Amino acid sequence: MSGLDEAPSQSARGWFQAPLSRTIDAVRSASALIPRLALDIALPTLCVSCREPVSGDGVCAQCWSKLSFIARPYCERLGIPFVYDPGPGLLSMEAIASPPTYTRARAAVRYDDVARAMVHALKYQDRTDLAPTMGRWMKRAGHEVLEHADALVPVPLHWKRSWSRRYNQSGALAKIIGRAANVPVLPDTLQRTRATEQQIGLSKIERARNVQGAFKVPPEKKSLIQGRKIVLIDDVLTSGATADACARALLRAKAVSVDVLVFARVVDSFRPPI
Ligand SMILES: [Zn+2]
Repeated sequence: MSGLDEAPSQSARGWFQAPLSRTIDAVRSASALIPRLALDIALPTLCVSCREPVSGDGVCAQCWSKLSFIARPYCERLGIPFVYDPGPGLLSMEAIASPPTYTRARAAVRYDDVARAMVHALKYQDRTDLAPTMGRWMKRAGHEVLEHADALVPVPLHWKRSWSRRYNQSGALAKIIGRAANVPVLPDTLQRTRATEQQIGLSKIERARNVQGAFKVPPEKKSLIQGRKIVLIDDVLTSGATADACARALLRAKAVSVDVLVFARVVDSFRPPI
């Protein structure tokens, strides 16, 4: 995690600020039991990527400028950016070679160093203050899929993981987007039927196998999905295997369509269309 592990700067300013950042981090993690509000008043927020104190959104201006926001031209199906504009409606080779189960995927940013730091901080470091910013960017990136959506469904954590982490980042993002776009959120309609391995480090085929059949809509929730246009919400889209397995479960429960909206998507390299 390059941004998080950077050595302190050698400049005079760096010497002062790096220990300050570390102190603030230490106080934050040591005082998990102190009410959050009290801490927020007492301590400045740190940029999730470079650890400099920031006011506002959780990412400093310099790190913000390193984020790659995804905009057209991109594959209309997978949302993968193209290097040049091939004209409206063209698809990427991936979308043609192995079409996903979902209809369209949209993402706010490319999954690079700063985006990774944001996702990681939201997921594991209790930086829930990032969710409104990330949700706002997602709403903008996904305005087309949100326009006709009937409901948002967050990708669920397995209950074991949700117990240890106690925070479902996809659920938090869905709540913010739902409120902003005026679309209802259906938090427990999609369930994991078994704990899956972390997808990190697995090949594309292994990822697909790992999550195959891992999701279902329980019978008593099917009526919430049936006949509806669903937007699936997650933090990161890597191979698309998880989104695909979720979409399959939602379509089995008779969703009319499933689109996917994530905060960040992995893009191998900007590519030309077919
Ligand atoms: Zn920064």
